[in-house]
Amino acid sequence: MKDIVKSLRGTKLALAGPQTGYKMECIMKDKSARKLGPQTQAIHGGEPNRRGVNGPIVTEIIRSSTFTFSSTEEMKLWAEGKNKAYIYTRYGNPTLSVAEKKIAALEGAEAAVVTSSGMAAISSALLAALKFGDEVISTAQLYGGSYRLMRDVFPNMGITVRHVGTDLAGMENLVTPRSKVLYVETPTNPTLRLVDIHKAVAFAKKHKLVSIIDNTFATPILQNPIALGYDMVVHSATKALAGHSDIIAGVAVGNSDWMKRVRQMIIYLGGSMDPGAAYLLIRGIKTLGVRIERQCENAIAVAKFLEKHSKVERVHYPGLKSHADHKLARKQMRGFGSMMAFDLKGGLPAARRFCDRVRLFLLAASLGGVESLVILPIYSSHYNMTIEELRRAGVSPGTVRVSMGLEDKEDLIEDLKQALG
Ligand SMILES: *Cc1c(COP(=O)(O)O)cnc(C)c1O
Repeated sequence: MKDIVKSLRGTKLALAGPQTGYKMECIMKDKSARKLGPQTQAIHGGEPNRRGVNGPIVTEIIRSSTFTFSSTEEMKLWAEGKNKAYIYTRYGNPTLSVAEKKIAALEGAEAAVVTSSGMAAISSALLAALKFGDEVISTAQLYGGSYRLMRDVFPNMGITVRHVGTDLAGMENLVTPRSKVLYVETPTNPTLRLVDIHKAVAFAKKHKLVSIIDNTFATPILQNPIALGYDMVVHSATKALAGHSDIIAGVAVGNSDWMKRVRQMIIYLGGSMDPGAAYLLIRGIKTLGVRIERQCENAIAVAKFLEKHSKVERVHYPGLKSHADHKLARKQMRGFGSMMAFDLKGGLPAARRFCDRVRLFLLAASLGGVESLVILPIYSSHYNMTIEELRRAGVSPGTVRVSMGLEDKEDLIEDLKQALG
């Protein structure tokens, strides 16, 4: 970030603090000590110094799988780790590097590693910290794919997973001499429960656990767990970071040491990002702050509308006073986010009828894009789970999850009215 600060020094932008130059209604407080506001970081972070004549303003796609060396001496230095040259895109690539630096800047971290998917980032971050015999303590409420990875694959690798609720109650009882990682997600998918990040960090530090957090739902605009002491942050960059539902991508963020280990895992397992995807990711991130601002504004309007509707049993949105974690959300997030869920009084049949009747909202998995989406978690992220697993995850069969897009909120509410009518 030093380069950017330098290149912006003397201009008006250099004065932009976390709040000035970045008016965000849904932002309540900025607790980090960043020099530039998050939307400024989203645009300029990680980009090379672009002052000069005839320079492109956009990062090019370096669509090359391999990179030349000037001599065997240079190659020898690379092999000995004395030269940081690019050699092969699975190891690194200039377009990928810009995406990595941009996301690291946004999260206030030293480094990042971009990956072919969120699951590649999650699996590689976990495996970078775990070995045979180790144990993971994790919230039971997780993205279904993360939960199933730990349920279906980790036991075969000799790794045990122990579950705790989002309130972290009883967490001390799960610690054994083999506990190695604390893995949480906040807010959770799909019921938007929050984990107290300060509490989780203190617990991890006390027991010398590696702390890993999935920050996909909050995005770096709304919370920065690294600044609060987390070791690693992972994202499905497919979602809000890329923001346009046109790529599958992921990223792990943390200090240089951890990122070296994650990159090594990506090199072994092959989950590297394609430079074309990196281009779209960089482009998407440039509007992250304004997209989140609009989504937060739409989400609170929709949540309030749904909460008052006679056919709605319950709305899960941390921005509502009725939400169990509303106070915690105010404490640790700068806004309440673009995701919500709700339960209809008629259960699954009513939820299906609703999803089949919406016109503007599209019926599709995934989230964080510009289009508003609805989905039934039991048929998407939480398929292939027992009733007991669904109960622990807080998912009832009739739960409808909503990803707020950027449309006009009046149009979205009209659509909801007709679909519920
Ligand atoms: C989608 C998602 C993932 C998985 O990411 P992919 O990019 O689909 O691999 C992980 N965590 C959360 C919270 C998600 O929403």
